[in-house]
Amino acid sequence: MRMESDIKLDFKDVLIRPKRSNLSSRKEVSLKRTYTFKHSHKEWTGIPIMTANMDGVGTLEMANELQKRQLFTCLVKTYDVADLKDFNVNPDYVAISTGISKKDYNKVREIIKNHPELYFICIDVANGYSEKFGDFVENVRNDFPHHTIIAGNVVTADMTQELILRGADIIKVGIGPGSVCTTRIQTGVGYPQLSAIMECADAAHGLGAHIIADGGCTSPGDIAKAFGAGADFVMLGGMFAGHDEGGGNIIEKVIQTKEVDPKTNKLKTETKKYVEFYGMSSDTAMDKHHGGVAEYRSSEGRTVRLPYRGKVDGTVKNILGGLRSTCTYVWVPTLKQLSKCTTFIRVTKQYNDVFEE
Ligand code: 5GP
Repeated sequence: MRMESDIKLDFKDVLIRPKRSNLSSRKEVSLKRTYTFKHSHKEWTGIPIMTANMDGVGTLEMANELQKRQLFTCLVKTYDVADLKDFNVNPDYVAISTGISKKDYNKVREIIKNHPELYFICIDVANGYSEKFGDFVENVRNDFPHHTIIAGNVVTADMTQELILRGADIIKVGIGPGSVCTTRIQTGVGYPQLSAIMECADAAHGLGAHIIADGGCTSPGDIAKAFGAGADFVMLGGMFAGHDEGGGNIIEKVIQTKEVDPKTNKLKTETKKYVEFYGMSSDTAMDKHHGGVAEYRSSEGRTVRLPYRGKVDGTVKNILGGLRSTCTYVWVPTLKQLSKCTTFIRVTKQYNDVFEE
């Protein structure tokens, strides 16, 4: 046994220190970034925020909507050629996702044969540390030299470098921080997300590659901290869940309020709408896509009901508004400069929650 005693940090452990600024308005802030990817040599411009490839967020409808503001969608793995038949989203803002089985790979080849314009491939497994995963990334790189490959998930510099050297352009970082993830509870494995981002970004940038901070963001402030820590992209599941474009079932529930109806002298009721959201390793996802949880494994995700949130555009505006405000507090006119100008301060309390229910 060995113990690493450096303190590793999460979003909740820090705040960003404000700096004297002469930016007069958030309108002056640009959130667009332009990247050239290491192996594919493709240039990309957009707002580097993306949906997770999860049911309820990684849908074609979401891609259609988010591309309008140059945000990115990682589609769920379950789409096949037939689902993508009439798909005409700008290929700059969408990735197809795949696991690492032979069947998965055949599907990727078929999709790309039918849609040669799609050039982002997201190779996604819960544990990116296996030899088999590295071999798979290398095979995809050999077969698709000009595609942009996203690979993950990992949380340490060594594996970030290994996957980049094996052909990945962008490394997806995060083990266990997700809103519907139970990996840390089930296995005791994980890495505080802010430190994982800092360490993996440093490793990737040293090799001319990029990273995605995947999971754990609960507010626009967390997204700002992820970019401040060096993330090139930020991936969101829970924050994009509960909207029309995610396609989840809307469940109506009658709730008792605290208000008394003067006519009946009973508590009034109201109908509230909810949307189910679940981890891709949860019982719900396993039942839906794999006919149940296999005998030798346990579920590593939960199922939750979120308040229905309508169209995603309102949430997007709120996120982008928050990020622009961060940039004005730190005095940077572009998202590109945010990480260079971020000073984190360690805190024991992030905000005042006295009126939170
Ligand atoms: P969120 O933004 O909701 O906090 O995190 C989203 C990320 O959680 C996803 O991109 C993915 O990496 C991770 N995730 C999704 N489903 C599961 C699951 O069932 N188990 C685990 N361990 N992680 C999950």
